[in-house]
Amino acid sequence: MEKKKAIIIGAGISGMTAGIYAQENGFDVTIYEKHSIPGGQCTGWKRDGAFIDGCLHWIVGVNPKLQLFPIWKHIGAFDENTKIYLTDYFNKYDIDGEIVTFYSDLKLLKQELLRIGPDDKKIINEFIRGIKHYQHVTIPVEKPMDVMNLWDYTKIGLRMLPMLLPYLKYTHITVKEFAEKCKSKLLEKTFKKALFEDYNLHSLLYIMQALSQNDAGIPEGGSLNVSLRIAKRFKNVGGNLVLNTSVKRILVEDNKAVGVILDNDEIVKADYVISAIDVHYTLDKLLDNQFKVDFYHNRFNKRDTNPLSLCVLASYKVTKDISNIPRMIEFDIEPFYIGKAKISVLNPRNYSFDKTLNDGFTTMTVLIRVGDDLYDTYKSLSREEYLKEKERIGNIILNHLKNYFKLTDDEIKFIDLTTPLTYERYCNSYRGSYQSFVTTSNHEKLMDTGLIDGLKNFVIAGQWVMPPGGLPIALFTGRHAAYRITRWEKKKFKA
Ligand SMILES: Cc1cc2nc3c(=O)[nH]c(=O)nc-3n(C[C@H](O)[C@H](O)[C@H](O)COP(=O)(O)OP(=O)(O)OC[C@H]3O[C@@H](n4cnc5c(N)ncnc54)[C@H](O)[C@@H]3O)c2cc1C
Repeated sequence: MEKKKAIIIGAGISGMTAGIYAQENGFDVTIYEKHSIPGGQCTGWKRDGAFIDGCLHWIVGVNPKLQLFPIWKHIGAFDENTKIYLTDYFNKYDIDGEIVTFYSDLKLLKQELLRIGPDDKKIINEFIRGIKHYQHVTIPVEKPMDVMNLWDYTKIGLRMLPMLLPYLKYTHITVKEFAEKCKSKLLEKTFKKALFEDYNLHSLLYIMQALSQNDAGIPEGGSLNVSLRIAKRFKNVGGNLVLNTSVKRILVEDNKAVGVILDNDEIVKADYVISAIDVHYTLDKLLDNQFKVDFYHNRFNKRDTNPLSLCVLASYKVTKDISNIPRMIEFDIEPFYIGKAKISVLNPRNYSFDKTLNDGFTTMTVLIRVGDDLYDTYKSLSREEYLKEKERIGNIILNHLKNYFKLTDDEIKFIDLTTPLTYERYCNSYRGSYQSFVTTSNHEKLMDTGLIDGLKNFVIAGQWVMPPGGLPIALFTGRHAAYRITRWEKKKFKA
């Protein structure tokens, strides 16, 4: 019997995951990717001979005993033999000369928080208890929630029972509100620094449960190698990966997706289409605004309560041995502005732990969250002005890094800066967003289905389906997309 054809738009983590599972479930899969390499935002590149990891601060799912590992392994991202650099601490903060470590290990974390906030035992205990409750978090990876039966819900519900009440409580409390309950100013500052203040506490507890269970780390070789391994796996299971090829339209006939039109106007027909790219681009450009999906529409139109995640990423080549410098540390600086965002701290990442990335030197990157305004500001600049602005930011940060880490001109060099325009150019990301919506305390429904009312044989995968996005979301929404098309064919999903 001839195989059914599935087209996937985008070879990011979600697209490739969907591709592997769909191919294994009997589809003839082609992925179209606009870039010359697969991986999307999970990537890396070279500048001035230095390798820049453009993504991973950590990947959740590296603990073989926990839920996500088997899926990462299945798609070839990493396995038990891959060297993983675990994240021993969430971050270090230099607060007026006092170094506070936000440890991953809960005993160490409690000790550290009590050291700086001895009078805040109650709130510290509440926080640690919250993390422990969140260790029961169970992501609906097996199948999408809307197709679960009573038994599936019962299983997940029972596993997640301990975190149900904490979830209901902490999803509506911001990190800032929680921090302000502390008596110790140092502890309050530490909590405020732990995550952007408008994020809800739920997001912090979710991250901390992963760190505390040794489930977050960086596979050796970094982001690009993770992506290349997944692409290799996709090809090994028989998938067809077409690079340097943009999709410009999804073909719709009789309320059904029936294929795509490529940028060279070629029409490619298919039985199913999975869009694994930026959701705004999918709805606005590829579907020509014919469909309104409330989940996204409401968020795109209420960006004050559903802000986008915009950033700049500055990269530096360091020729001195900096293995004695922490992998991450945040310190205060004399404020400067990027657009309307006042930048008063820097949080460099030191990649010297992975010797396979560079030979004889290393890179340091600094990710800075910026406001939504920056997109319009940068769009209005000429190429010359834009490049000048990038130099300005790169050099301000360079001087701070030199001062803080006592590095000379010869030892550290500014080599690259990505901006929202970079993410728009390479990934078609809406307003240059590098993840999806920030999960604030006012956020609405947690997760979308990826389906569009009135459009059959079509599904959306990727980080936008479940804010705030990130690699695990890309992973399991990709798998869900393959699950859906398999079930639409009335076949059992082989995982
Ligand atoms: C600086 C940075 C740091 C990050 N740090 C982390 C981290 O530490 N941990 C973590 O979990 N996550 C992190 N993320 C987020 C993570 O990288 C993303 O959530 C994830 O990679 C998104 O995957 P995706 O498949 O949903 O989308 P994308 O990666 O955006 O993939 C979409 C793909 O579709 C392609 N495409 C777009 N339009 C078209 C078209 N019309 N036709 C064909 N192809 C198209 C794009 O080129 C891209 O390859 C980080 C991201 C960045 C940028």
